[in-house]
Amino acid sequence: MNLSRSGWFLLARIGLTVAVGALAGWLLDHVLAGVLVALALALAWQLLNLYWLDQWLRYRGHLDPPNVPGVWGDVVAQVVRLHRRKGFHKRRLLEVFRELRRSTAAMPDGVMILNRDWEIAWFNRMAGRLLDLRRRNDVNMRVTNLVRDPAFVNYLQKGDFDEPLVLARESGTHAHLSFQVVPYSSAQHLMLVRDVSRQVALESMRKDFVANASHELRSPLTVVTGYLETLLQDEALDPAFVAPLQEMQRQSQRMNSIVNDLLELSRLDALVEEPVGEEIDVQAMCALLRKDVMARPLHPDIRVELQTDARLLGIEPEIQSAFSNLVDNAAKYTPASGLIVLSWRIDAAGRPCFSVTDTGPGIAAEHLPRLTERFYRVDSGRARAAGGAGLGLAIVKHVMLHHGGSLEVESTPGIGSTFTCVFPARRVSGVSRDVTIPDQVTSQLQPARAG
Ligand code: ADP
Repeated sequence: MNLSRSGWFLLARIGLTVAVGALAGWLLDHVLAGVLVALALALAWQLLNLYWLDQWLRYRGHLDPPNVPGVWGDVVAQVVRLHRRKGFHKRRLLEVFRELRRSTAAMPDGVMILNRDWEIAWFNRMAGRLLDLRRRNDVNMRVTNLVRDPAFVNYLQKGDFDEPLVLARESGTHAHLSFQVVPYSSAQHLMLVRDVSRQVALESMRKDFVANASHELRSPLTVVTGYLETLLQDEALDPAFVAPLQEMQRQSQRMNSIVNDLLELSRLDALVEEPVGEEIDVQAMCALLRKDVMARPLHPDIRVELQTDARLLGIEPEIQSAFSNLVDNAAKYTPASGLIVLSWRIDAAGRPCFSVTDTGPGIAAEHLPRLTERFYRVDSGRARAAGGAGLGLAIVKHVMLHHGGSLEVESTPGIGSTFTCVFPARRVSGVSRDVTIPDQVTSQLQPARAG
């Protein structure tokens, strides 16, 4: 048997008790009675120790540990050690918790913890200040009862929290608040609330500045272009001035188109509501776009692939401008020996898609995320030579946003690119048949997805 030191000690004590009882019983001629009395006394002593231990454990906060001998002493020492260790960990945990609360309370952003039903479980000081929350009244309230904007309710219901939601408030000092949900467990969400009034004001100043500057440049440019045109038509013009004046005319036309693009972008930027629009005959639009490319002096081959005769619900001039920007880029960057395919189809999710695929130089993956930024050009030399200012794709992106859709780009350097305008399914109108296109058209173009 593998007994500890105190185990052996206990056994020895029982043995000694029995021996003393037996000896006393033998002296009084009652050995068994002597042993029983000795054992009863020993048991009573143990019970008394147990009682002291129980009392101490019950009222540990106020009583000193009992001074008991033997195994009971070991038990008391163990309990005291465990108690001290627990107290130490509790104090540390409390310290960490207080530190955490102090740091989140001092955070410059509002933080709220919400449960699965969007009820507020906790919020820091800044969240309270930004949303006018009172700890006593608003804890356990649904956050949608406190922020009543339908866009906010929509944002929570949609469950897509990649981007924050910016809301304009009717009153209060914090005019624009940004909300971002960070789901961190199945039962709770973290909501970050920031005052973005300053950023919104700066952004709006930037937009106003660009719109006003473009607007102011328009009139002098029209005058310059007009005079240049008149001068070039003058038969008495010295032939030495013809070439420089033609170059001036080209550059002023370029400036004109940049100013027009900037004005169009400012207009699209200012639109907030998604329009329903009218029915657009995309087939006819594709035919016209194809004709425009064919009219260019040196142009690549261009085909139209129609897989549906659905009409698109949208604002026609905007859609026309977006599609022609994509086709114009494909024609600009694809060599005359290449091929462009325009395709109109409904994808597996029922979304109408217009895409332009070319066998041009393609775009390296690192440029793809920045392609729709204003004035962003992959190869500025080549783009400028092709007459581009880097505003076309920014316009396409804004038109798509205005129509609730998105622009997707797939490209492989050396093989070609596909730019796809993906519209939401609600923008399909009048689908009556699906048109199947011969394989030979699609098999010639297979750009791989890049990024
Ligand atoms: P730009 O007016 O310069 O063409 P865009 O905004 O339309 O401006 O395009 C941005 C950049 O993307 C272009 O400068 C060009 O480098 C690149 N790009 C756009 N379309 C294509 C394409 N079909 N093939 C290769 N590069 C393209």
